[in-house]
Amino acid sequence: MGRLFLFPSWSYLPPARCNSSGEGHLELWDSPVPVFPMTTSLDCATPLHVLYPKAASYVLRQRRKLKDVPPNLAGTLVRLSALAKSQKETYFVLTLGGSPLSGSQAASHVSIIVQVPAQLVWHRALKPGRAYVLTNLRVSRVSGHPNRVWRTSPSSHLLPLRLECVHEWDLELDRPLSEADSRPLPMPRNSRNRKEQKDLVRDSRVLSYMGMVTGVLNEPAGLFELDRQLELCLAYQQFPGIRQVIRPGVSLELQDVHLLQSLGGGTTRPVLAPCFRGAVLLRAFSRLKPEIQPSHQTQGASLYKQLLWERQLALPLYLWTVKALMELAHKLCPHVLRHRQFLQHSSPGNPSLALQLLAPNLDVLAPPCSPSWNPQKVILGEPHHCPLQKYTRLQTPCSFPALATVVKEGERRAWDAFDPQALLPLPEASHLTSCQLNQHLSWSWLRLLPSAFQPPQVLLGVLVASSHKGFLQLRDQSGSLPCLLLDKDSRPFSDPQFIGVVVRVERFQLIIERNVKSSYPSWKELSITSYIQKQKARVYVQFFLADALILPVPRFSSPLSTSLTSPRTKPTLPEDLHIAQSRLFFLSHKEALMKRNVPLSPAGSSEMPKLPLSFLVSGSWLGGTQRKEGTAWRPSEPKGDNSKDQKVLLLFVGSSVRWFEFLHPGQVYRLVAPGPATPLLFEEDDPSCMSQRPLELAGCTSCLTVQDDWILELESSQDIPDVPSVNKAETSLSDLFSSNCSDSLVSFSAEILSRTLCEPLSASLQMKPGNAQVARECVKLTVALEIADCQFPPHLDIYINGPHLPPPLGLLPGARVYFSQLEKKISRSHNIYCCFRSSTYVQVLSFPPEATISVSLPHIYLAELLRSDQTPFQATASCHIVCVFSLQLRWVCSHCTSLCVQGRCTLQGSTCPSKTSVSQASLRLLVEDGTAEAVVTCRNHHVATALGLRPSEWTSLLEFVRGPGRIALQFLGTGAHLEPSAKMNDSLALFLRTLCSSISVLRPIVLSFELEKKPSNIIPVDPPRLQRFQCGELPFLTHVNPKLRLSCLSIQETEHTSFREASAFSH
Ligand SMILES: [Zn+2]
Ligand SMILES: [Zn+2]
Repeated sequence: MGRLFLFPSWSYLPPARCNSSGEGHLELWDSPVPVFPMTTSLDCATPLHVLYPKAASYVLRQRRKLKDVPPNLAGTLVRLSALAKSQKETYFVLTLGGSPLSGSQAASHVSIIVQVPAQLVWHRALKPGRAYVLTNLRVSRVSGHPNRVWRTSPSSHLLPLRLECVHEWDLELDRPLSEADSRPLPMPRNSRNRKEQKDLVRDSRVLSYMGMVTGVLNEPAGLFELDRQLELCLAYQQFPGIRQVIRPGVSLELQDVHLLQSLGGGTTRPVLAPCFRGAVLLRAFSRLKPEIQPSHQTQGASLYKQLLWERQLALPLYLWTVKALMELAHKLCPHVLRHRQFLQHSSPGNPSLALQLLAPNLDVLAPPCSPSWNPQKVILGEPHHCPLQKYTRLQTPCSFPALATVVKEGERRAWDAFDPQALLPLPEASHLTSCQLNQHLSWSWLRLLPSAFQPPQVLLGVLVASSHKGFLQLRDQSGSLPCLLLDKDSRPFSDPQFIGVVVRVERFQLIIERNVKSSYPSWKELSITSYIQKQKARVYVQFFLADALILPVPRFSSPLSTSLTSPRTKPTLPEDLHIAQSRLFFLSHKEALMKRNVPLSPAGSSEMPKLPLSFLVSGSWLGGTQRKEGTAWRPSEPKGDNSKDQKVLLLFVGSSVRWFEFLHPGQVYRLVAPGPATPLLFEEDDPSCMSQRPLELAGCTSCLTVQDDWILELESSQDIPDVPSVNKAETSLSDLFSSNCSDSLVSFSAEILSRTLCEPLSASLQMKPGNAQVARECVKLTVALEIADCQFPPHLDIYINGPHLPPPLGLLPGARVYFSQLEKKISRSHNIYCCFRSSTYVQVLSFPPEATISVSLPHIYLAELLRSDQTPFQATASCHIVCVFSLQLRWVCSHCTSLCVQGRCTLQGSTCPSKTSVSQASLRLLVEDGTAEAVVTCRNHHVATALGLRPSEWTSLLEFVRGPGRIALQFLGTGAHLEPSAKMNDSLALFLRTLCSSISVLRPIVLSFELEKKPSNIIPVDPPRLQRFQCGELPFLTHVNPKLRLSCLSIQETEHTSFREASAFSH
């Protein structure tokens, strides 16, 4: 060093783009040539007295200081540690072993600490295997290390060893060196004593390796690929050192590195990782041109380092963390955040977003700890002990999939799980006509919980309010996922401040709604997929706000970030709101989001569709317009007519529909209009809005169209005086089920029991000749009303059609929902049902429970059903079949439901294309349980159970009926007689007649049923009638209740089945 050299062959490499160090480097391809002749500093005339390692380690062990010992050591370099740092001092340790003369190479070794700053450059020059002389050393103690060590002094020199120029110092050894003194260099330990360890803990192998770099996996994280089959991790060395030079084509020699295999956590290849003790030596430069690294490949070095050293991550966890950070960066950078910002070093005042997103995982797997790895112990300690020595296979904690992948995966699973035969279990499906069958299949849903994914998935994205669709979305660079958010205690999510935050959620329900258009002729073809004509899936996620980690995005203004976080709005960053005016309003009702014929705002008229999505809210102003003063709002100017009821109707159209999910009745909002004050901005009526809704406006003093650039803020209603208190409107049960239709708008909370797709209610009216092919459909929800003090909640049907389709997110079986302002209607058969209308407001109160609880029906006496109040709609009763009233078996065309004779459709006048027929059965019987009698109607497969027939017997009975097509029997009391019109096999009729009056049908059963008269039916129950009876000579007059009418849901044999078998034997 310090001499003039000529470098004959070299190449200069400029710094990699965005490289944090910003320095290029020279690669010297040939040995430098000294300009002036080199004078060797070893003067062979006066040989230097040196100690060889054996003697040098003996000196260390002596308690007293030995006299006249030369401070020079010679030996072969057997090991070179990495550069390390402790207590702010940088150093490395070189180990000399054996002596070229003694021949016993591995006999002894001695470590020398090099800590003088000017000598640290030796680290690059030293080559293991060569012999060196070090001069002017001293012996000193190292804190935390039991033995004394050799150390260089500022006047030390490093020289190549020339035997002719040194003279071995003859140390007068007091005693012969015992075996223990000349401990051999411990050999790398193989995983031999595995049995002592738990099975999960593995030992790494220490070895040396020579290979070529074939890839740079992640330079800042210190990950490279060796020979296309190994990974090299340099992160466990404190100094990046050689990393900058490493690129494909570089040959490396690795000494004393750890080999770790099957690490888990997504790492498949074996990994070589040097600790402090291992050396990474450059053997040859690369001849390849350096690749230009993408910016994300050059960022994050200090964050990786911070993670590794502060959390002391084991290698499997470190590799997973790097992978997870890359996944996250791929989702968010550069559109939301630049790589540099995302992967920045985390400091208390400026926490890194990446670290916050990983913290929930790392806090469990590697909690932050204070005592850190001590490099000195790792380098000098015998036996060797370091963080890479032992490891456990890592179960991948989680993955952060791209949202587009989540949607795709959800759809794939939904269609994999779609099985018509499972959706329609066989005994029921075999009696359905083609139309019924396809309707049953047309809507179904699948829920995926995080446990359904391996490794568990964590959803992560920026929360965005869609200005096209009105719903909330999680968004990342790959795509978006609609989401439904619920605050705690069934409260709706209503704070617009959350727009643009990063949401990380581990507990969620991924919902996939399947819409299928199919043309199955009958149940027999259900396994053939070609009958599915069209299939469409709607994927969304629902979760509770409390289950999500919400993190604000660090400020960063790029045109892309605004396009992602607040689409279609001009960048409305808070500093733009220095000048603004606002007005508080209290929301009392929100209407449905739908396509309405509203006037277009002049600004966006060209791009908006003819019928834009829009919604209206009604409420009242609280106080007057306020102006911004600094960061606070100035109190509103007092107005003369403050007492006036300031009702207002707000119209949201165009991109302001993005506020839809945030607006909920009972809340106070602040409407902020940025820009200089415009007098009467919030007071003046919007003429176009006015003309639109004359009826609704009757009660409102003003009507306003919310502009695209206006902003909505949630205000805490506690801070504001005079906030009207609003309770959730709930229509009482008596009002709901009254025949009075004058107040036709009803509101209630209910649990959804089922959701089906059906024909529109007024299909025949809507079918115009021109658009007959336009398949109109209608969603029917059956709900159980939530009414206080009601043991058996009544059921009600709600229809959603036309403009309200597809229905809002979250209307799923099992969910609890608050419906406001549904239209109550009465059908021709006097059933009450409800329909969505434009003013309907829907709010999901709870998601379907994750574990479905099967509730058994209440067990009752039939007489309990005669009480008019509080009777269950569905129940179970133990009863006895008294007699059979009628039985009908028939075969119908599955296409047109005409009767089929000999299996052929008998539709008059036209040729029906269908060749498939299905059987249908109905049975009416009388049951009693000692308290009351009831007429029960059984249909299809329930008839077989009612008749006590086995499946094979039932099938052959139906086959007998196929010939005539239909058989109908009427029974009168105990004597049954055949319906005269039907011509049929007499023996079949005889058999059925005998069967229906036999003890194998007339038997005790457990019947599950529902009332034939639905709770929503408003026909009054017939009062008990006076009836005359003759008992011998005496006539009786008595009140007789109308017979109960029930539909069979299922029939079970009683516990005492032996009764039937016993009676069968007796016959
Ligand atoms: Zn180690
Ligand atoms: Zn037909």
